[in-house]
Amino acid sequence: MASFFGHITTSATLGAAVGAFGVWQFNYDWGVVFLAAGLCAIGGMLPDLDSDSGIPVREMFGLAGVLVPLLLVGRLRRLDLTPEQILVIMAGAYLLVRYGLSEVFRRITVHRGMYHSVPAMLIAGLAVFLMHRPDGPIAGQELQKRFYFAAAVMIGFLSHLVLDELFAVDLMGVVPKLNQFAGSAVKLWSQSWPATLLTYAILCALGYMAWVSTGSPTLEQAWRQTITPLRK
Ligand SMILES: [Zn+2]
Repeated sequence: MASFFGHITTSATLGAAVGAFGVWQFNYDWGVVFLAAGLCAIGGMLPDLDSDSGIPVREMFGLAGVLVPLLLVGRLRRLDLTPEQILVIMAGAYLLVRYGLSEVFRRITVHRGMYHSVPAMLIAGLAVFLMHRPDGPIAGQELQKRFYFAAAVMIGFLSHLVLDELFAVDLMGVVPKLNQFAGSAVKLWSQSWPATLLTYAILCALGYMAWVSTGSPTLEQAWRQTITPLRK
């Protein structure tokens, strides 16, 4: 099992690469780029939210608690709320994640269960896709950014799964060795079928919401816009 340090180092490095890619291919400004880099770095720690103990986990829920309301700012701004109302909603979202969601996780998740899986990675990506709605003159550009942020968090998440799967990363250096948990991180289902079913139900629900939130014609447009610069 890779250490907390090994995970954050890897995902932060990947985050820098994701940011550089955004500047190079899409000409994004520093706000977009740093947000994506940060999402990628955090994505690399997300899977271990399922472990029940330890300071990193508590820290992570604190971080996630801050991140969720921040990602919602773009959406809240469109709702015609007063600044005070926005603050109340953000504080509520923080408390919900920090104390509500963390308690749910503590009770229902098993370490290295379905939260360490490919569908969980997609859920993380979809959650970011749904939460953050940047402003943009053209729907396609806005969508492209949402894809970019979702990809960023998923790349970080995937790096965690792969590291867990393959290596034990030593603090003093990389010591590759097959660990006893091999086969438990990058997976599509777990031994617990209720957990697997629940994961896929959440995945389908979020996927449907994401689809509806974009509208299929513009989704196709955005996909083309995302892909075109890559083909050059
Ligand atoms: Zn892990």
